[in-house]
Amino acid sequence: MTAPFCSGELKACSGCGTVRYCSKKCQTEDWKVHKPVCRKLKSDEVWGIKLLCKRDLAAIPPSSEPEISRRIQHILLNKNHPIFRQGDLCPATQAYGFPLLIYSDVIHQGRQTQGSGNQPAVYLRIEVGNGLAPPDWQIVQDPDTCIVVRRDYKPLTREAMEACYAFHSMLLSDAYGWPEEEGWAPGGEHLTRAAFQLFYKKYYRDQNEVGRKQFKSVLRPL
Ligand SMILES: [Zn+2]
Ligand SMILES: [Zn+2]
Repeated sequence: MTAPFCSGELKACSGCGTVRYCSKKCQTEDWKVHKPVCRKLKSDEVWGIKLLCKRDLAAIPPSSEPEISRRIQHILLNKNHPIFRQGDLCPATQAYGFPLLIYSDVIHQGRQTQGSGNQPAVYLRIEVGNGLAPPDWQIVQDPDTCIVVRRDYKPLTREAMEACYAFHSMLLSDAYGWPEEEGWAPGGEHLTRAAFQLFYKKYYRDQNEVGRKQFKSVLRPL
C-alpha cells in the first residue's frame, strides 16, 4: 500500500513496511491516520473493519466525528476468522470493482441478540438487481455488529469503508428511488467501476475540504 498523495521515490514506513511515503513531511502528515494500523503484520493477519451496530456505537465515547465514522473501527483479523470462509460477498461492491466480504455473528453463526440496528451493514449487503438486502439481513434477523474485509486481503481503511457506505447511500436515496419511465436508470446500472471511482474521489475531496484531514490521501484507485 502506498500513501496515495506521494509520488516519485518512496520509502516504506519503518514501523510496518506496508505504506510508503516520498518524504518525512508526508509521513508526519499522515501519522494520525496511519498510527492505529502501523504494526508489523504476521502473514496470517489482515486489517478489516468492525461496523458497529447502534448498541455498540452507544458504548464508545462520544466525539465530534460524524456518526458513520464512529461506527467504522479498525479490527485486526486472523485469516482463520470465519469471515473468510462464511462471509457474504457484497454483490454491489463486486459489481463496482471493490469486492468486500461482510460477516455477522447473528446471520452466519445464529447467535441470538437483543436486536440492534446496523443500517450501514444492510446498505452494504444490497443486491445489484433490486437494491435490497436479502430478507435475513433486513427483516428476519438483525445483523448486529458486523465485520468487513477486502476480498483481496489488502488493508481496508476506515475512509474507504465510509466512502463505500456513502456511495450506497447515494444510490439508495437517489437512483433506486426514481422511476424508470421518467428516464432514470435503475440503481444497478450505476454500479460500475467508473461511477464508483468518480464518486469516491469527490467524496475524499469534499471531506478533506471540511477539515477531515484523513481524507487527504486521494486520487489513486482503491
Ligand atoms: Zn508524499
Ligand atoms: Zn507504518
